[in-house]
Amino acid sequence: MASYLAQRQSVADMSRYLADHNYFSGTGGNIGVRVDTTVMAVTPSATDYYTIRAEDIVLLDLDTLKVIEGEKTPTIEKGLHARMLRVNRNRHASVHTHQPIASAVALLHATLKWPEGSDLQLLGPQIDLVPYRPSGTGMLAKAFEKALKPGTYAYLLASHGVICAGRDLKEAVDMIRRIDAAAAAHLRDLASTRTTLDRHLKSLVTSVLEHAGKMGEAR
Ligand SMILES: [Zn+2]
Repeated sequence: MASYLAQRQSVADMSRYLADHNYFSGTGGNIGVRVDTTVMAVTPSATDYYTIRAEDIVLLDLDTLKVIEGEKTPTIEKGLHARMLRVNRNRHASVHTHQPIASAVALLHATLKWPEGSDLQLLGPQIDLVPYRPSGTGMLAKAFEKALKPGTYAYLLASHGVICAGRDLKEAVDMIRRIDAAAAAHLRDLASTRTTLDRHLKSLVTSVLEHAGKMGEAR
């Protein structure tokens, strides 16, 4: 009988939710959840989020990354999720996305602040930056390991995307939304101080970012 089916089903359901809300659009994204002390459930690579089933979620050994159960190939970013969860024992779910607004900021190689009044106990002190390395490579996993700090739960991967960890999957997905709000605020600040920006473009950019910010704050 398949193990951890309920947890694997919730990873499958959340993948669909993230795809529906455009966080997993385009080139996708992936999830890693600690389902037991040394077992991590991850999304498979190159699978349609709308047909994904609990059995497609692969179980890995959190330390060795060897497959324990599952027919599919695990996500190429399994090393990122494993490092995130190993360093932060109080976090059980890690989500990686290429969400558009935050990924745009990731192109600028900026570090982001959480909005004023945010719960930093929950979110960590800030959104840190991991230097660029090609996605899915051991080089990226190593760069991430170097940048990882216990207690910092959200990172922009330069010129690539976002990764964050919550105590559970729902909390990690809430963080994904909040990262987009922080990224939108950062870009709005940049647009408002840019004197060379055409005023029509400026008002367009501002309204797009305001909308993105509101989506990020919505619960
Ligand atoms: Zn990626």
